[in-house]
Amino acid sequence: VKPCHICADNAAQDDGTEPWAIARLSTGYVRLNPNQYFPGACFFLTKSCVHELHDLTRAMRDAHLAEMAEVASAIFEVFAPRKLNYEALGNGAPHLHWWLTPRYATDPRPIGPIWEDLEFLRAQWTSGCRPDDAERDLRRSRLLTALASRPVTIEQAFR
Ligand SMILES: [Zn+2]
Repeated sequence: VKPCHICADNAAQDDGTEPWAIARLSTGYVRLNPNQYFPGACFFLTKSCVHELHDLTRAMRDAHLAEMAEVASAIFEVFAPRKLNYEALGNGAPHLHWWLTPRYATDPRPIGPIWEDLEFLRAQWTSGCRPDDAERDLRRSRLLTALASRPVTIEQAFR
C-alpha cells in the first residue's frame, strides 16, 4: 500500500514543521495551497484518511462540511474574489481534501474550471507561483485571523 502523503503532511502540521499550515479545526486541517496562482487558494483536509465524503459518519460529515464552508467564508473575506470554487477530487491523493480556490475578475479564463487554464497547470507541474516566505506567512496570518472570528473550533493555530 502506498503511504498517504496527506496523512504525512497532517502529521507534519501537528509537529509544527508544515510551512503552509494555517490551523487545525475539529474535523480537518487548513493549509495554504503552495501554488498561489490564484491568490488565497487553500486546502481543507480531513483528519481521518477517508477517501469519500460518504465514508464519514453523518455527524462528522455535517461538521466537516460546516467547517469547510467557514474556511471558504474566511478566504472570501480576506481575498474578495469574484467567485469561489469548491472541489474534492482525490484522483491522485484519495485522502478527502477540498480545493478552495478564489477566482478573480482578472482571471484569464473566468468561466472555465481552473484545470482549463494552462498557466495554472504549468505552475502546478513546475511548482511555480510559490510566494516568498514573507508573503506566504502574511496570507496564512490573515486567513487565521479571519477564521478566528468565525464559529469554528481552532484546535491548533500555526503562526
Ligand atoms: Zn491519508
